[in-house]
Amino acid sequence: MRKATYHLHTTWCDGTASPAQMLQAAIERGFTDIAFTAHAAWPFATEWHLPVKAYQRYRQEIDTLALKAPIRVFTGFEADFIDGITAPDYSIYRTFGAQLLIGSVHYVPGEGATPWSVDGPAEEVAAGITNSFAGNAEQAVRAYWACVRKMIEVTDADIIGHLDIIRKRNQTLAFFDEDAPWYKEEEEKTVECIAKTDKVVEINTGGIARKAIDDVYPSTRLLTLLCQAGVKITLSSDAHTAEDLDTGYEKARQSALKAGFTGLWFFEGDGWTQEAL
Ligand SMILES: [Zn+2]
Ligand SMILES: [Zn+2]
Repeated sequence: MRKATYHLHTTWCDGTASPAQMLQAAIERGFTDIAFTAHAAWPFATEWHLPVKAYQRYRQEIDTLALKAPIRVFTGFEADFIDGITAPDYSIYRTFGAQLLIGSVHYVPGEGATPWSVDGPAEEVAAGITNSFAGNAEQAVRAYWACVRKMIEVTDADIIGHLDIIRKRNQTLAFFDEDAPWYKEEEEKTVECIAKTDKVVEINTGGIARKAIDDVYPSTRLLTLLCQAGVKITLSSDAHTAEDLDTGYEKARQSALKAGFTGLWFFEGDGWTQEAL
């Protein structure tokens, strides 16, 4: 039975383990497939991104590791989408050896304020809503989803990263009602948008590992919509430490089954194949 995570961070960006340490831990935990996906926002970088000057060295280190590894190892990036600034785009990332590309929205654009990350600390999210949207959380959440849909329309990335990560700080801040009709409408519109593509949606357990939320992304309700729309899913931990390589995996499997999925998709280097859950 295959066991994969196509979403991993190391000391090349904001992770705590080196690629070699991550690989060793993955072998010990029975993984058959891993992809290293450094945070990337070419040609920019924040303190949590792969530095611009390090792209080629990162690629070389992963490629070398992959050659000797007893399991499948892919070189990838988790590329940010910030409209008009940076986008997950193979024409750029292939020049740095990308075999897999995750497209993720972390930053939500607001009215002339400092960009803020939905993945950031609760205080950053609260300040972002106050400063960029005059405290109007519905507007902020709708702006997040509009960004996700724009990314899906323009990117050629294979995987959509942590689809509803906007929920991450909602457990602490309770800034919106996940059962509100307008929120469900945003989810439905986004699923329609994904269903027109061949992209794979990851079930991401990273919020559990970081103790921000006791659920996977996407929620079971959103996963159910994705299943009904025939969208492919994969399972990834978004681990930033070797200890969290498969944190939340059993919960993720249960969520997928509950949503109606019968299989998970695995990357073959030139396409995807499905295996029973
Ligand atoms: Zn991310
Ligand atoms: Zn990540």
